[in-house]
Amino acid sequence: MCGQDTPTTERSVDGWELGVCTGCDFLYVPRIRANTASEQVIDPDFVPVQRARHRQIHRLLQTLLPSGGTVVDVGAGFGALGRECLDAGHFSYVGFEPAASIVEFARTGGIDLREGLFERGSLDRPVDAVVLDNVIEHVADPMDLLELCRDALRPRGLLVVIVPNRHDLRRFIPAWRDANHWIPPEHINYFTAASLRRAFESLDMDHHPFGFRALGVRDYRYWPRAAAERLGVFPFGLNTYGIRRG
Ligand SMILES: [Zn+2]
Repeated sequence: MCGQDTPTTERSVDGWELGVCTGCDFLYVPRIRANTASEQVIDPDFVPVQRARHRQIHRLLQTLLPSGGTVVDVGAGFGALGRECLDAGHFSYVGFEPAASIVEFARTGGIDLREGLFERGSLDRPVDAVVLDNVIEHVADPMDLLELCRDALRPRGLLVVIVPNRHDLRRFIPAWRDANHWIPPEHINYFTAASLRRAFESLDMDHHPFGFRALGVRDYRYWPRAAAERLGVFPFGLNTYGIRRG
């Protein structure tokens, strides 16, 4: 995150070393795989899961952006956010996804996915929002990706970043921890609320938790979480957004 690459080993999981940066204290996996696209054989009857967070991202966008805007989803997976956008009809949606099998499947459901990585030059004009939903924990250079996503925004555009929290309380539950938390080489970057805030500072963007803005009545189970976030406490994942200055 700070550009140094001189980690000290913090722990080892399934033969993968996790190191702490001596420059900025960031926890990451120094030696990684070359390709993290999740190619798979997909059953034609498979129905992608729409999770509460997809609904909440969409609600946040609706709260903060005028209708008719363009939303870009980087590392879109099956395009669950695209499904929300398509059903509600407020935003144009385009997703970028490196796994060809996933792109092909999502397109049959009418979701506009483009195969490949999101790069400088992927878009021909500035957009209203860029979403990184559980992406930056997977990429070799998260700061570079964050910068190019910010640069893709119009002035006052939104950058939504959801990333697992190194200090997630559920890590004390062994089954959850082993399936979701310390999982190199899938997750190679381990953010905290503080390191994510510093990343947004270096992007020269404000940084906010989703809080109550993303929640409707159906989301009552998430209200305590939003109350904690108001106090600066992140018990679970980091669901956040920033606004490009302009
Ligand atoms: Zn560092």
